[in-house]
Amino acid sequence: MKNILMIHEPRESTISNINTWLASFPFSPSPSSPIITFDDGLYSQYLFFKKYKKEFTTWIQSGIRVIFFISTGLIRPKEIPPVSLTKHSSYCQEKFFKSFNKKDLDYFMSLDEIIELSTIAEIGLHGHYHINLNKLSKIETLKAIHSELKGMYSSELHKVLKPTSFCFPYNIYNNTYKILLKDIKEFYGAERVNIDTLNKD
Ligand SMILES: [Zn+2]
Repeated sequence: MKNILMIHEPRESTISNINTWLASFPFSPSPSSPIITFDDGLYSQYLFFKKYKKEFTTWIQSGIRVIFFISTGLIRPKEIPPVSLTKHSSYCQEKFFKSFNKKDLDYFMSLDEIIELSTIAEIGLHGHYHINLNKLSKIETLKAIHSELKGMYSSELHKVLKPTSFCFPYNIYNNTYKILLKDIKEFYGAERVNIDTLNKD
């Protein structure tokens, strides 16, 4: 079984699904130790982290890596309160739609919350505005990557946390990212196991 788990929106069943998935791996840390990844910096992931901080700490102490991939242009400004849980629906594409069209950033974590995660887990980059390269021409793709890089490298997150891992937005592999992101040591994408395919709920 592939050793990298991909999670977007945490649900009731997420903690037990993670534990079931982890149980399929050998106990001791090794190069193939499992890695749990969370994409998009959703505020619900922060709440999940707070609720299961003990579990996160135990995983990390036993050699399991946890990485939160953040799009640096999708970080909630301090003055915007986070979305309330009752308003919180369960599909992350909807949040991007909202964010792009309404500048609605309340679904995302603030920098302070991300920094709080970084005291226990790892923080990786996930583009700036999470641009979908799929429908773009070659020239448009290069322009988009250029602006994504500019956004990531000028972000406060990059200054403070200096991430060394990157996850391709929408899992769309692009070699230009790989060439230009010189300080990035690890790239993540479609090779991961989607937690939603493990146990439908
Ligand atoms: Zn994403």
